[in-house]
Amino acid sequence: MCRIAMLSVHTCPLAVPGTKDTGGMNVYIRELSRALTKKGMLVDVFTRCTDPDQPRIVEFDEGARVIRLKAGDLSPADKLAVLNYLPEFVCNLRHFTEEHDLTYQFLHSHYWLSSWAGEILNSRWNVPHVAMFHTLGALKNEARPAERESWLRIEVEGRVMNSADAVVAATEHECRHMLQLYPVSPERVRIIPCGVNLAQFRPISRQTARAVLGLPEGPILLFVGRMEPLKGADLLLRAVGGLPEGRRPRVLVVGGDPQGNGEEARLRAIARDLSIEQSVHFVGAIRHDLLPLYYNSADACVVPSYYESFGLAALEALACGVPVVAARVGGLTSFLSDGLNALLFNEHRPETLRSTIQRLMGEPALHATLAQNARQSISHLAWDAVADKVIALYRELCKQHAPRQVCTCRV
Ligand code: UDP
Repeated sequence: MCRIAMLSVHTCPLAVPGTKDTGGMNVYIRELSRALTKKGMLVDVFTRCTDPDQPRIVEFDEGARVIRLKAGDLSPADKLAVLNYLPEFVCNLRHFTEEHDLTYQFLHSHYWLSSWAGEILNSRWNVPHVAMFHTLGALKNEARPAERESWLRIEVEGRVMNSADAVVAATEHECRHMLQLYPVSPERVRIIPCGVNLAQFRPISRQTARAVLGLPEGPILLFVGRMEPLKGADLLLRAVGGLPEGRRPRVLVVGGDPQGNGEEARLRAIARDLSIEQSVHFVGAIRHDLLPLYYNSADACVVPSYYESFGLAALEALACGVPVVAARVGGLTSFLSDGLNALLFNEHRPETLRSTIQRLMGEPALHATLAQNARQSISHLAWDAVADKVIALYRELCKQHAPRQVCTCRV
């Protein structure tokens, strides 16, 4: 059996996405791990334990486990604080593997913090190391300079890009920027898209979905995402705030921290200032498996982000047959096409987004066409297909590693 060690140090793939630090990457790791086990692999996802009451080992699918290791306090920590805990994390991971007599054939690290841990571990294990950063510090700085990402992050990303055996970019766009912004040679970078669970995210009647959620009739726009300024939810509020009351759609904001502070508090204040509190509903973070009901309730899913490395929320909306209104940024255009399954806008100005929304709501034939094309347009992006691509990469790296070690797994 082929065993993979996935590293997701700062966030657990089983955490409910939608808060500041849990989102697409958590969904990606969980779903990819599941898809890999369906193809006969064993996957252990190593993460940091953030609560003494959490079970240390959770089997979340047959052959797929989350293993929570002590690294620093057993409480949530800021990402930069996690950096200090990485040495302890790596030591405890090695103790765990020795104690349980485990060897892994591949290391697959996610985000820069885990890539650092992957690099250190691999100096011992000497197995193929695949790194995926999900977002890049230098790219984030370009998209929104006010949110300065640490130079240390960018430094680590650049170093691991050259020490790992392969780096996965989710899109051409990410790959291009990686090559422009970091000293990495092109043959190390592989493009493998993200995926969607097509069985879970599928069309159901809007009426049924709204009845289950207790939502009224009338136009509804949906925002789904982590609560951070980069997601541009404020732009959606300002766009909707400029519409006359009688023609203003309801906005559902999915995502947010349990305390509702930080970005969520800022958004609530904006809604208050615009006097649109009655039209905006902050529903908090919603379990991923319940989200199909929200997408299916909406007339459109709005993605006003300043940057998206991929954009799973948009992909899930399309899988549910719901058109997307999105900023033309980052990896979104790898699967969103203006006039086919989405309406794309170029400038992050409330007026621009407002007129795009008005166009979609005002042209029922256009809306129907986008909705009709939505699911078909992304049917190639099932997790199963993503797992095939990842396995093909493992297989290739296994061959390259042959002189250094004898690889006996049958990938
Ligand atoms: N999500 C969720 N519950 C929430 C908010 C978000 O399950 O309350 C999920 C959403 O369905 C998507 C992921 O979190 O799968 C967000 O991924 P995306 O790529 O859109 O953004 P990222 O977090 O990677 O920036």
